Amino acid sequence: MSAITVTDLTKRYAPNGPAAVDGLSLTVEPGSIFGFLGPNGAGKTTTIKILTGLLSATSGTARIDGLDVARDRAGAMSRLGAVLEGSRNVYWTLSAWQNLVYFGRLKGLRRAAAGARAERLLTEIGLWDRRGEQVGTFSRGMQQQVAIAAALIADPAVLLLDEPTLGLDVAATRAVKDRLRALARDEGKTILLTTHQLDVVEELCDRVAVINRGRAVADLPTRELLAQS
Ligand code: ADP
Ligand code: ADP
Repeated sequence: MSAITVTDLTKRYAPNGPAAVDGLSLTVEPGSIFGFLGPNGAGKTTTIKILTGLLSATSGTARIDGLDVARDRAGAMSRLGAVLEGSRNVYWTLSAWQNLVYFGRLKGLRRAAAGARAERLLTEIGLWDRRGEQVGTFSRGMQQQVAIAAALIADPAVLLLDEPTLGLDVAATRAVKDRLRALARDEGKTILLTTHQLDVVEELCDRVAVINRGRAVADLPTRELLAQS
């Protein structure tokens, strides 16, 4: 079973308006990293909002770990973590520890379980010793690491990331790439990310889909995409 399955997905924001997503189909295999590429306005954000249950599709289906987002939103969301706006989805005035425990509680974890998960995640990203410091005082790279950890708090199978390395310096970009690769390789997480950075595609993505005007114009292993260019 695929970790993410989008089938003939169409979204019109207005009843007779243009299709922002136009009959899009794609599948992402478990444990792989999938790059979702395309120019601005191509329909990437619309697709991601449907996958996260923020928008409903006009027609077609989106499934996370086999669960239809429209029919079983709670089930699908329990298998999904998302970092949609860089590190803006964490609270800057809360500490790293408070952020993770807070998101864990929101996801329905008991306090002890949320704490255990937070400890493990903060240790993995090297922030355990700084867990009591406000996230707003961290570097952008570390804020992004905390945002990724928050998305992972309930141990979802699937992680969605919108431009995960946008605006990060070289060292932080390296750290985020290493982190995402380790999550896929060592923990079997399935990752779908959008990016405009070729180095991210090259180094990280197993497969890419290029979309334009809501349609897939390419969907192939990264090495084939690179061989063409
Ligand atoms: P991308 O993320 O690839 O830049 P989007 O999914 O944001 O693309 O946009 C796809 C199309 O849908 C664009 O033509 C955009 O103008 C349109 N669109 C996006 N959001 C809305 C909205 N809330 N209302 C109407 N049209 C929208
Ligand atoms: P600043 O941007 O405030 O100058 P740096 O990015 O130089 O901070 O990072 C300061 C410390 O944090 C360094 O020890 C660096 O290795 C570490 N660091 C940087 N980015 C990350 C990251 N994404 N995750 C974990 N540690 C990081």
